[in-house]
Amino acid sequence: MVKPVLSWGRAQRYDQTVVSLGRFETAFDGNRPLDGPVTFRGMGRSYGDVALNENGTLVQATGPDSVIAFDRETGILRARSGLTLADLHRITIPAGWIVAVTPGTKFVTLGGAVANDVHGKNHHTAGSFGAHVTALMLVRSNGERLLCSPSENADMFALTISGLGLTGYIEWVELQLKRITSSNLHVENRPYADLDEFFSLSEESADWPYTVAWLDCFSPEAALGRGVFSRARYVEHGPLNVKPADKAIKWPLEMPSFLLNRMSISAFNWLYRHRPAATFKGQQDYDPFFYPLDGILDWNKLYGHKGFFQHQSIIPMENGKAGVRELLEAIRREGQGSFLAVLKVHGKELSPGRNTFPYEGVSLALDFANRGRKTVDFLHRLDAIVLAHGGRMYPAKDALMTGETYRKTYPNWEALENARDPMISSSFWRRVTN
Ligand SMILES: Cc1cc2nc3c(=O)[nH]c(=O)nc-3n(C[C@H](O)[C@H](O)[C@H](O)COP(=O)(O)OP(=O)(O)OC[C@H]3O[C@@H](n4cnc5c(N)ncnc54)[C@H](O)[C@@H]3O)c2cc1C
Repeated sequence: MVKPVLSWGRAQRYDQTVVSLGRFETAFDGNRPLDGPVTFRGMGRSYGDVALNENGTLVQATGPDSVIAFDRETGILRARSGLTLADLHRITIPAGWIVAVTPGTKFVTLGGAVANDVHGKNHHTAGSFGAHVTALMLVRSNGERLLCSPSENADMFALTISGLGLTGYIEWVELQLKRITSSNLHVENRPYADLDEFFSLSEESADWPYTVAWLDCFSPEAALGRGVFSRARYVEHGPLNVKPADKAIKWPLEMPSFLLNRMSISAFNWLYRHRPAATFKGQQDYDPFFYPLDGILDWNKLYGHKGFFQHQSIIPMENGKAGVRELLEAIRREGQGSFLAVLKVHGKELSPGRNTFPYEGVSLALDFANRGRKTVDFLHRLDAIVLAHGGRMYPAKDALMTGETYRKTYPNWEALENARDPMISSSFWRRVTN
């Protein structure tokens, strides 16, 4: 069936042939070939075009979402790649296990988490998702089934983790989960005055497993980068509760984009910094701590019918402060900014992924309403600042970086191209490799 499919940012929309996993399996057997190249799609939570395939076929890889094996003693879980973290946690949290690394939404599949090698608030202590994958099954279009792990087909394992879904269909994933004795965390939120204070708080909190900051991208020059710093760790004793899925509210409509302007964003930022939760110290359930945006389904409609772009970059530690400062100065000058600006110091922890986005450095993630050419040109200027400081952008969030930028900043891209399954491609991959 040909239908329009949107990126999570809703700024890209392509008509694509969408097929089910079952239809794809017969195609990979060679029985009924599909039209054009294939892209797999999990929950479609990537902001740009890694899970889009203009003029090609999109395989909806969200089912069947079954757990194959779960050892409650060791916390090793093997599940079909279409399982979401939300569904996984319904099974594992009551047994005292949780994923070791989670992105800021639980509505992602295991396949999507591996393909982008996602990271979370604990990157500085736990690395990214792939560091906790013990094995996976890769199905190639020639019918080959490759068991990949750190010791078996190790090259293909390392290229599939952060491989943007290009090396084959990830059929199942095996993970080492993290032991918890409560689903609550002890959380400390603290407003901070500027970038210098952000970096000293990050340093002082290095032994807290989870750290992150929200920042006000329209702060005055003297307080550039001010925001609210959060740090957290699991408490030792408490309930093992899972939030019911029906607790989320649904964002009803596309907002008129003129409502999102410097004034409304500054007003929101003021309220955010001054709300009581900005100084909260105490216990909080894992769900609102890790997934604050999941409380509002379809929040991506907030940016109006033209959608939005996310820009997430990472800059090596030695240039981190200067690079973030320059990015924030550019945003202030331009007057385009977002409610949701997130700053995080990342650690040395390694991932087996050959093309994983984070490394030791500081990352900044921002949303920008799509105002056409003006926004596109501005984001290219942000890319140039990142590049000048030796950094790079995150493919899972990107819709605009040039091929030259991608190839320069991901030096292992050619190894991925060589390992790519000839039947698989994506709009992102064609954009950055052509
Ligand atoms: C609110 C929000 C917060 C987020 N926070 C973070 C964060 O903190 N850290 C972070 O790293 N990311 C974050 N993200 C991005 C998100 O975690 C990633 O984009 C993730 O990969 C999405 O998973 P998905 O199941 O939606 O996959 P999709 O977006 O549908 O696909 C992602 C990639 O996986 C491939 N793929 C999917 N399934 C398979 C399969 N079975 N076999 C082969 N390839 C497959 C696709 O082809 C594509 O390349 C966030 C996104 C949102 C919306």
